[in-house]
Amino acid sequence: MSLIKHFLIIFSTNTLIACYIKLSFCGRFMLTSSELIQAIQKYDPNLNVDLVRKAYIFSMEAHGMQKRASGSPYFYHPAEVARILTEQLHMDYTTVIVGLLHDVLEDTNVGFEELEEIFGSEIAFLVEGVTKLSHIKYTSSQVKQSESYQKFIIAVTHDIRVLIVKLADRLQNMRTLSYIKSEEKRRRIAIETLDLYAPLAERIGMNGIKDEIADIAFFTLHPNEYRAISTKLEHIRNQDNNFVQNTILELQKVLSKDEIPCSINGREKTPYSIWKKMQKRNIGLDQIYDIIAFRIIVQSVKECYAALGVVHTNFRIIPGRFKDYISIPKLNNYRSLHTTVIGTGNQPIEIQIRTEDMHRMAEEGIAAHWSYKNGDLIGKVGETQNYAWLKRLIAIIKNSPDPYEVLDNSKLEMFDDEVFCFTSKGDLITLPKGATGVDFAYEIHTDLGNTCIGVRINGKLVPLKTVLKNGDRVDIITSPYQHPEATWEDFVVTGKARSCIRKFVKSQEKGEFISLGFQLSRYIFAEMNIQFSEDLILYEKFCCDSLTKFYYNMGKGLIPLKLFRSTLLNIEGNNITFNDTSICLIDFIPDIAVHFSKCCCPILGDKIIGILQANKGLIIHQTTCRSMEESCEAFIRVKWNQDDNIETSFMARLQIIMLNHKDSFAAITNIISSNNANISNLKIEHRTTEFFSLLVDISVTDIAHLGEIQAALRACSKVKSVKRL
Ligand code: MN
Repeated sequence: MSLIKHFLIIFSTNTLIACYIKLSFCGRFMLTSSELIQAIQKYDPNLNVDLVRKAYIFSMEAHGMQKRASGSPYFYHPAEVARILTEQLHMDYTTVIVGLLHDVLEDTNVGFEELEEIFGSEIAFLVEGVTKLSHIKYTSSQVKQSESYQKFIIAVTHDIRVLIVKLADRLQNMRTLSYIKSEEKRRRIAIETLDLYAPLAERIGMNGIKDEIADIAFFTLHPNEYRAISTKLEHIRNQDNNFVQNTILELQKVLSKDEIPCSINGREKTPYSIWKKMQKRNIGLDQIYDIIAFRIIVQSVKECYAALGVVHTNFRIIPGRFKDYISIPKLNNYRSLHTTVIGTGNQPIEIQIRTEDMHRMAEEGIAAHWSYKNGDLIGKVGETQNYAWLKRLIAIIKNSPDPYEVLDNSKLEMFDDEVFCFTSKGDLITLPKGATGVDFAYEIHTDLGNTCIGVRINGKLVPLKTVLKNGDRVDIITSPYQHPEATWEDFVVTGKARSCIRKFVKSQEKGEFISLGFQLSRYIFAEMNIQFSEDLILYEKFCCDSLTKFYYNMGKGLIPLKLFRSTLLNIEGNNITFNDTSICLIDFIPDIAVHFSKCCCPILGDKIIGILQANKGLIIHQTTCRSMEESCEAFIRVKWNQDDNIETSFMARLQIIMLNHKDSFAAITNIISSNNANISNLKIEHRTTEFFSLLVDISVTDIAHLGEIQAALRACSKVKSVKRL
């Protein structure tokens, strides 16, 4: 910690000088840390001067010699974001620090732990939140996609300040968008801004930022339309040079007559909002008469209505255009009176009447809640820990009656149950909560799910059943030899994954039984010394409509072997010698048509025999297994596939009697693990003062492997006896 401090002091002086020299060519000087601190001091009484200065220097150091597309030092960008958060939005000093640091996790070597150590966990988590948002690579322009992305942004924004910093970041990026050389990239950023960030800014009432970013995006995407509207606006302005000025004067005259103190300004609509209105109402530019809105700012709510009365007595109103958002505020808390009257020169003019506070709320929205009134922070800092801001934000979004609202209530209900993740390419995948990497794989493509062998989340290899979290970047590792396992069904949550797995397992199952049935048929032919021929299988006799069905039933143990043998006998008639033959266990997937019996746990190398069991398939036992005695007739001779190179493991159970010593356990587990075997279960059977009787389940590759382990155990002085069960 002290070392880091030391470093900062040594390096910062040099870099500061270097930056000043560079920036003197840049037109606008970079905001200095002192200017920033002075600006925050004006409204935040809790300001921690040292911490802001430290963040300023830290960020400058971290970004070092990185450059922006404009050629200016990278640090110019976070410094400008801090300026927006301070001068335009009056955010608390913590948020300003987040603005300074917002790109260090993504673009520099600084890690989360370092940030947390120096600036505390609140700031570190906020920076991490902004970083998560930067993983978005939004390319599509479809409403459906835009919805998901907006939902994602809200889902990862546990603290509304993350979104506010992101919007300030986007504003700064839009202001410098023209420096980006690639037109494709400029367009992508503009689409993202128009589809995601402008609507989000509007939702939380930050209209100032919304207007500016939407307008730059509009210019980038539709330069011709932008120019056409701008030219027309200029034309209207020039037509009646003094229109705005005259209207303001006239309004001032009538209001001062009634002694209502106020300030009035005329504000032109942005080209983008005019264009949107033209599209929405399908009208031409000439038909939009509220291009200029006049704002009357008064001191109290009472004066709002008084001013409205004055306006309505002195000008002719256009019916149906009056709206009282003071009595009934918009759900993003917008409050104002709107009316349209016929003004000077017979032109319809739109008038908005509001107080100073309402005006601020209209411009800054939720950011205005962070403002200080008489030194008190409205919206206590403690609230942020309880996600109160997020809840409020969601409430705003949820209740908005705006017809343009993309998120309707039914979708929001689902929203709590969703998780938003990215592919390595940055595409957003929306899944139900609790979804795993396997669900993710199936969501992208059935084949990807069917061959999925591993999952990497944010670069780390994790078990397949790991539950995904918002913002996770997910990589699916595949293998052509992999196939879905029935056990996956226990942890997947999407219907698609479940049905794909079920379908695969079913088809696999069918294949396995058919294959077993085929092997069994050949086995019986060979046993009877008859040349195998499918023509000789009279499947109709066994109520099967096809040979495949016959094999399937045979594999399932539904064909009486005695009966099958007798049909073959009838065909050949005589000279039958019973041959010694067997079925090789090659290629069967365990636990589908071929099972290893739980009673004797055969392992590779054991002498084995199969018993055909109706509806289950072939059960493999050791020849010494006691359950053999009860069965008859359905014995099938089987053999291992000895040159099987595939790594398989078998479960073997050992009974170990050992001395009752404190280090006996350690000795035994050591021997087993040093012989490359896993203990999967361990149970104490009996315990006397002298001895323990222990049951150990271990997984081994074959009988030789098991033999080595047994020998090693017997050689141990703590062990009295070892017996395979
Ligand atoms: Mn940035």
